[in-house]
Formats: sequence, structure tokens, C-alpha cells
Amino acid sequence: MRSTLLFEFPYAIDVIDFALADLVGRLTVTSPLEIVKLFGEMGLMQIWVPEQYGGPNGNLTLACIAREKIAKVSPACASIACLNTMFIMPLLHFGSEEQRKKFLQIIAKGGVVTAIAISEPQAGSDVSAINTRARRDGNCYVLNGRKQWCSYGVVADFIVVMARTSDSPPRHGLARLPRPAAAATGPAAPPSGPPPP
Ligand SMILES: Cc1cc2nc3c(=O)[nH]c(=O)nc-3n(C[C@H](O)[C@H](O)[C@H](O)COP(=O)(O)OP(=O)(O)OC[C@H]3O[C@@H](n4cnc5c(N)ncnc54)[C@H](O)[C@@H]3O)c2cc1C
Repeated sequence: MRSTLLFEFPYAIDVIDFALADLVGRLTVTSPLEIVKLFGEMGLMQIWVPEQYGGPNGNLTLACIAREKIAKVSPACASIACLNTMFIMPLLHFGSEEQRKKFLQIIAKGGVVTAIAISEPQAGSDVSAINTRARRDGNCYVLNGRKQWCSYGVVADFIVVMARTSDSPPRHGLARLPRPAAAATGPAAPPSGPPPP
């Protein structure tokens, strides 16, 4: 089922204005997860999920407008709006159709928190310096490595993990593996798409 809000420009601005007004009225919430639920109902958590996967079909401009308007009331709440973009974008650009269907249809329903794990102690701006390894083991990937600054990682339902599948050349052999978040600290889950290049 599609999100209730389908983002088209004039209408989208009204929706975001409504979101802002509604947010002001609800700022007594006690948990950020309440904001996630609220924004999910408004289509803001899943703003970039295409209509074909049940999303509101937004884009970067709308995500920026939403954050800017909400930030006028609460920068903290604005950082939650559209946060799933960092998970949705790699899937749209590099994911298999099977992965997109599997994850985007869930995110489209709202109320889902995702994260992206790129940075490591020795690899910040230079993503090609990451050391985390993804080793294929039958139908699974075994991840070994250390990540840091994974925003929302402790509450995320799903995390995209950037990992290395081969040693050379340095800028190749990087894979993006969408994973159930529990797998970040537990046994590896089966990959949902074809092996990375
Ligand atoms: C609030 C916050 C949330 C974050 N959330 C996440 C997250 O969810 N997931 C994640 O993976 N990471 C996250 N990060 C990490 C972030 O994305 C950056 O990768 C990280 O902050 C940069 O790494 P560093 O601090 O080691 O800086 P460095 O890479 O060491 O860079 C230090 C300085 O040197 C400059 N610099 C670096 N390389 C060059 C170059 N070649 N030429 C010129 N200048 C250069 C940089 O611009 C910077 O000013 C987060 C960071 C912050 C602060």
C-alpha cells in the first residue's frame, strides 16, 4: 500500500507546511521515536521512496524544503525528517531490484529508522581507505571491521554497510550491503541480491 502522501510540488509544500504546524503542536513528545512515527505518517521519513515501491515519490528538493521548514522550529527534529535518504539513495543507485523491493516497500510504510555505516577510525573523508571486509560464505556475507559515527545505528532497523570485498585496486572492491541492523552485532544474514562486483 502506498504512503498516504504523494509528493507533487505545490501540494508537497502544503503538506510540509502542515507537518510543520502539526509538529509545533506536538513538541511535548518524550522520545525521538515518537517523531519518527509522526513523520512516517506524514511521508517525511520515506520522502524519497519512489511511487512504484509504495513511497511518496519525493526528491532532494523536497527533502531540503522539509528539513529547512522543520529546522525553523526544531533543528533536532529536522535531523530526523528524511534521515532514511542515506539508506534509500544507495539502494536506488546500486541495489538490485530484489533489494529495492525488499527494503523500500518496508521503508515506504513509515516508522522505520535506517542508518549508513561508512566511516571508520582511519577512514573519514577518504572512503577508499575503509578496511571492513565482507567475505562471501555460501549464501551469507561475513562482515569484519570497525565502524564509527553511524548516526541512528543503535536504533536502526536496517543499516547499509560499506565494506571491502577485495584488496586492490584501492578504489574498487567496495560493496554496499543493506542488512538487518541486528546482523551488525550478530550472525550475518543472507544477502538479498547478487554478489557485489
Ligand atoms: C554528526 C555526524 C554524524 C555522522 N554520521 C555518520 C554516519 O551516519 N555514517 C558514517 O559513515 N559517517 C558519519 N559521520 C562521519 C562523516 O560522514 C565524515 O566521514 C567524517 O566526519 C569525516 O572524517 P574525519 O572526521 O576523520 O575527517 P578527515 O577525513 O580526517 O578530514 C579532516 C579535514 O580534512 C579535510 N580533508 C580530508 N581529505 C582531504 C583532501 N583530500 N583534500 C583536502 N581536504 C581534505 C576534510 O574536509 C576535513 O576538514 C558523521 C559525522 C558527524 C560529525
